[in-house]
Amino acid sequence: MASGSGTHILALPFPLQGHINPMLQLCKTLITKGIRVTLVTTVFISSSLQIQASTTSNLINIETIPDAATTTSEGDVYQVFINNFKETITQGLPRLIEKHKQSSYPAKAIVYDSVLPWTLDIAHQLGLKGAVLFTQPCTVCSIFYHMKQGTLKIPNEDEGSDIMLPAMPPLKLKDLPSLIYDIGAYTALFNLLIDQFSTYRDADWRLFNTFDKLEDEILKWITSEGPILTIGPTIPPLHTDDIEYGLSLFKPDAEAYLKWLETKENGSVVYVSFGSLVTPGEKQMEEIARGLVESNCFFLWVVRASEESKLPPDFVLEKGLIVNWCSQLQVLAHPAVGCFVTHCGWNSTLEALSFGVPMVAMAQWTDQTTTAKLIADVWQIGVRTKADENDFVTREEIAGSVREIMQEERGNEIRRNASKWKQLAKEAVSEGGSSHKNITEFVIQLSGS
Ligand code: UDP
Repeated sequence: MASGSGTHILALPFPLQGHINPMLQLCKTLITKGIRVTLVTTVFISSSLQIQASTTSNLINIETIPDAATTTSEGDVYQVFINNFKETITQGLPRLIEKHKQSSYPAKAIVYDSVLPWTLDIAHQLGLKGAVLFTQPCTVCSIFYHMKQGTLKIPNEDEGSDIMLPAMPPLKLKDLPSLIYDIGAYTALFNLLIDQFSTYRDADWRLFNTFDKLEDEILKWITSEGPILTIGPTIPPLHTDDIEYGLSLFKPDAEAYLKWLETKENGSVVYVSFGSLVTPGEKQMEEIARGLVESNCFFLWVVRASEESKLPPDFVLEKGLIVNWCSQLQVLAHPAVGCFVTHCGWNSTLEALSFGVPMVAMAQWTDQTTTAKLIADVWQIGVRTKADENDFVTREEIAGSVREIMQEERGNEIRRNASKWKQLAKEAVSEGGSSHKNITEFVIQLSGS
């Protein structure tokens, strides 16, 4: 029911696919409740956005901010990207807000990505309220919160000892987000994640893309630091009858892969994807390729165009199909798919969980290492591949993990757990469920603010 009665809000996602998707889905859900949404991005980012024909996303007004003339090229590639985006938005957003103030539907609030915490000051200075959206698991956000507060003590290279944090299972060093135990060249990303909490307490709403039963203990703990609203999982078909997010930075392949899936028996195909950012090395790509062949299962593997040259030159696709980008929601919803070899990106994880697809958790970096721990040990909806000290996973390990899910008794247990979590995810976003109630409450508060 439309209860938002035309209240206008702005939405500012961080311009990476894994951040755009949950923001977009939140916008679409708000639109179905009568909220008017303007999605804000930069001219540069909008030039690579593929807009899919999708009923609700067509209702989102997209406004672009001209890129700042004073760009910087100092620091690593992430630092440059982050700095230039911030510069453009801090220059252009106030103008955009002022322009909207003159219109017949001035914006009342802005929903912004948690990695853009400085947005809140701009909003408040111009009389708008601010809702911060966290797009990583609450467990991961809480670990970064502890880092910021100085309450996380990192054990010295000793992976044997447990790290105990409130409302979390005991964690080993490599269960922490990788940027904490191995910052490498990613200082800019580490700072981005720590800074999420710089304006946390001042935000008017704190939204998390998770649901109450999924992370119950840690959600209760973080609520003690200030009220939050869980709104996930923000998977399109769970919220609307739409099957796409609607905006993509990647062009999907022609849909021949869906026809290929049609020719396969239920539960017989392994879907493999490492999301939009991960770049496994050439040797690791070879192990994945050989491991998939060794598993002797059919597989559909997303290898982004930029990664294709890493495939072994003699790789023969007898039982497999490679695409550069697909509609992951359609693939995960397909009955032929029996298992998902994933890098454990939070969206991919929530999508697999919501469609009841068991996972082989092959985390690469950032929040993925912690999510892999949750998948394997807490929710028990997948197996986690074992890596050597250089985080390298062998073909035998990959093939063995796939077979464990596809052919062995453990797979049946994991499938039972996956069905349970699928049901709980659906309940959370259905009428009366925790996320549904929270979104309804958010709309009421937005409209009354
Ligand atoms: N995705 C997709 N097609 C693909 C691969 C990924 O649509 O071929 C989507 C996927 O459904 C998910 C997002 O891209 O919503 C990736 O986000 P995630 O958090 O899983 O990983 P990231 O890319 O941020 O590492």
